[in-house]
Amino acid sequence: MKPASFAYHAPKSVDEAVSLLDELAPQDGRILAGGQSLVATMAFRMARPSHLIDINGIEELAKLSADHGVVRIGACVRHCAFDSDALTGATGALLRKVVRNIAHLPIRTRGTFCGSVANADPASEWCCVMAALDGVAVLRSPRGTRRVPAAELYQGVMATSMAEDELLIAAELPMLADDTRTGFIEFSRRQGDFAIAMALVTYRLEGTVIVEPRVAIGGAETYPRRISESETVLQGRAPCEATFVAAAEAAAVAIDPMEDINNTARYRRNLVRDLTQKALELAA
Ligand SMILES: Cc1cc2nc3c(=O)[nH]c(=O)nc-3n(C[C@H](O)[C@H](O)[C@H](O)COP(=O)(O)OP(=O)(O)OC[C@H]3O[C@@H](n4cnc5c(N)ncnc54)[C@H](O)[C@@H]3O)c2cc1C
Repeated sequence: MKPASFAYHAPKSVDEAVSLLDELAPQDGRILAGGQSLVATMAFRMARPSHLIDINGIEELAKLSADHGVVRIGACVRHCAFDSDALTGATGALLRKVVRNIAHLPIRTRGTFCGSVANADPASEWCCVMAALDGVAVLRSPRGTRRVPAAELYQGVMATSMAEDELLIAAELPMLADDTRTGFIEFSRRQGDFAIAMALVTYRLEGTVIVEPRVAIGGAETYPRRISESETVLQGRAPCEATFVAAAEAAAVAIDPMEDINNTARYRRNLVRDLTQKALELAA
C-alpha cells in the first residue's frame, strides 16, 4: 500500500520548524525525522498525517556533542552515530553496546535517537537508555524551551508528555564517570526485531562495594523505567552472584509486565529476572 497524500514542508531552521508545527499540528501535521517508524505506519495507512514537516535539512539539529559533563544529541543524529568512537568514556562505551541491538544497519543509518525518544515504543533501546541515565528531553514550542526528565516524559505505550506542538530539539545524557561499569542485554526471537524485554545496569565500585547503581528495564512494561527496588538491593553490597540474584529477583517482582498474543506476563517477568542478572554479570 502507498501512503495517503500529504503536504511536504522542509524548514531550514528550528524557528521555522516550530512555527510550522504550531500551525499544522492541529491539522495532523507531524515531524518527519528518520521516517523509520512514521513512514512504515503511513504505508499501512495506520497514520495519515496531512502535513509532514521534514527536519532533516536543519543543520543545527545534526549535532552530537559532549561538553561540561553532558552528551547532547540533536534531533537528526542517527542511530549509527553511536556505533563509532565519536563519544568516549563510559557513556560512549555504553551507547556503542546498545546501538548494535537496534533493528538492522539500513534502519540505523537513517533512524534517529530523538525520533525513537519521541516515538516512545516500550521496546526502544534509546528510551531505556534515557530512563536508565535520567536523560532529559529538550522541547521547543512557541511558548519557549522546556526540559523534561525521562521519568516525566514516558506515560504509556507510545505516549509521552510532549504537547503536539513541541519539537524535540535534543536529548541530553550525563557523561558517566570513567570508572562506571555498564551492562546491557535484550532478548528478541529474531535478530533485529523489537525486544520482548531488556535490562540496562550501571554502577561504580567504592572499595569493594557497589555505589550509584542504576537498573532500568525496557520492553516488559508499557514504558521503560528505573527499578528502585533492584537498585536498593545493589547499593553497598559486593558485586557477587548472591547480590545479582537478589537484585534480579527484586526487578522481576517490581514490574507489572505487559501481555500479548506471543508472550504472557509470567514469561516477561521470568525474562526480566534472567536479563537483569545477566546485565549485572556483564557489567562486573
Ligand atoms: C524493521 C524495523 C525494525 C525496527 N527495530 C527497532 C528496534 O529494535 N529498536 C528500536 O528502538 N527501534 C526499532 N525500529 C524503529 C527505528 O529505530 C526508528 O528509527 C525509530 O523508532 C524512530 O526514529 P525516526 O527518526 O525514524 O523517527 P520517525 O519515524 O521520523 O518519527 C517517529 C515519530 O516520532 C515523531 N518525531 C520524530 N522526531 C521528532 C522530533 N524531533 N520532535 C517531535 N516529534 C518527533 C514523528 O512525528 C513520528 O510520530 C525499527 C524499525 C523498523 C522499520
